[in-house]
Amino acid sequence: MKPKILYIHPFCNPELSDFLFLPAGIVGVLNNLRSKNFSVTGLNIPLEMKLDSDMNFEELIASFDFDIIILDCHWYYFLHGVQVIAESCKKINPDCFVLVGGFSANFFRYELLKNCEAIDVVLKGDQETLLPTIFKSLISEGRKSLKKFPNIAYRNFFGFVVDKKISHFDNDINKCNYTDISFMRHWKEYMGFYLGPKAPGVNQKFENENFFYLPTQKGCIHNCPCCGGSAFSQKILSNKKGAFIRSPEKIFADFEYLNSLGVSKIMISCDSKLNDWVRILKDLEKKKIFIGILFEDWQLPSKEFAKQMISYAKKTDSGFLISALSGNENIRLKNGKKATNDELEEIAKIFADSDSYISFWFSPNIVGETFDSFQSAIDFAKELVSFNNKKKRISVQCSSMELDLTSQVYFQPKNFACKSYLWSYSDFLNHLKFRVKNTVKGNMSFESVEINVSKTNELILLFEKELSIQ
Ligand code: SF4
Repeated sequence: MKPKILYIHPFCNPELSDFLFLPAGIVGVLNNLRSKNFSVTGLNIPLEMKLDSDMNFEELIASFDFDIIILDCHWYYFLHGVQVIAESCKKINPDCFVLVGGFSANFFRYELLKNCEAIDVVLKGDQETLLPTIFKSLISEGRKSLKKFPNIAYRNFFGFVVDKKISHFDNDINKCNYTDISFMRHWKEYMGFYLGPKAPGVNQKFENENFFYLPTQKGCIHNCPCCGGSAFSQKILSNKKGAFIRSPEKIFADFEYLNSLGVSKIMISCDSKLNDWVRILKDLEKKKIFIGILFEDWQLPSKEFAKQMISYAKKTDSGFLISALSGNENIRLKNGKKATNDELEEIAKIFADSDSYISFWFSPNIVGETFDSFQSAIDFAKELVSFNNKKKRISVQCSSMELDLTSQVYFQPKNFACKSYLWSYSDFLNHLKFRVKNTVKGNMSFESVEINVSKTNELILLFEKELSIQ
């Protein structure tokens, strides 16, 4: 008998409907289970809260028949929510198995398994092709079968946490389907939500334009010190290195499918130099598949790719987000971004008179930046926007650098002269239990001797004043 699987995207806390976007990788994991004939249903609790403010999440979960619960906890925002929901699931069906996956769950696996009896298993590393086997064994042999598997942590018969090694890898991201989310209740309404202002990953607004985040790369070869998805973090949390790239043919097919659903804006976040994006855009133009692309490039696009994007933007609202971070090249490099000022300026100029756009992001609280050196960020930002003409296609923005739980700085703060108070598991829980809707301040931020959180906020205001940003 195949078990009935209920996937739940949790809330941050029962009062807060922010963070409704799914971590992109989970879609591939669930679709792989579906392709092996498992019955998978998805419930996005923050989405349900946004659609119905009177919704009772326990009653909603109880309306489903399930043997297995999968909860995602990729970002730390969900560390409290997964525990609340796991407990509700066990109350509704005491015999169900509850599994939690994602970088943050992996990082705090001991704490989660010790503090929340309702969580049976924490998943580590890649799971796409492992989960179907784990589930078959769990149903036929019960909990004792867990000891056969790598990439998991669980409590044994005596209540001790067993932490298995990561030795299973799913590197081929061409094998999975990341675009079919029809397993999720209200998936059409989900696509109507768009990135929120100022804190894109945090609060979301309903725009009804059909937005989709499309993964095209798994892993990263760079080491931006505050990022929890860096090569360093990948090694610690998934026991592997390198980046795995979706093929141009597969990306083209993803666009075709999303176009057939009426998607009007796709967000892509990757290192463009690792793929043939010129060819992908040319093929899309040739086949007349026109969807707006918001392309967050982890480094800098080539001039050829930038020009191709400009051509594609004649029929779509498409452009780039680039992290310039600082006006000082050495400081930029310390923070993982390799472009020189000249290279950034050259790319900016290409967009000045185009139908596309380019937006450069700066931040005062980054490794090596000081109160004085931040003036060069303001000067450089002014230089970039000075290339604008009437169309004003070049923009700049400035916000605080959040420190990821699984980042290099979090592990080795002294190496980066980091003066932040680094939150412990209980700090995260206290913060998350009482987090208020749409708040962006109070996250764990990078702080140096010179630039703490209040100085950061002052410098952001100064940047916005000098650049006349409303
Ligand atoms: S911020 Fe840096 S380390 Fe993180 S994913 Fe982007 S390029 Fe990679």
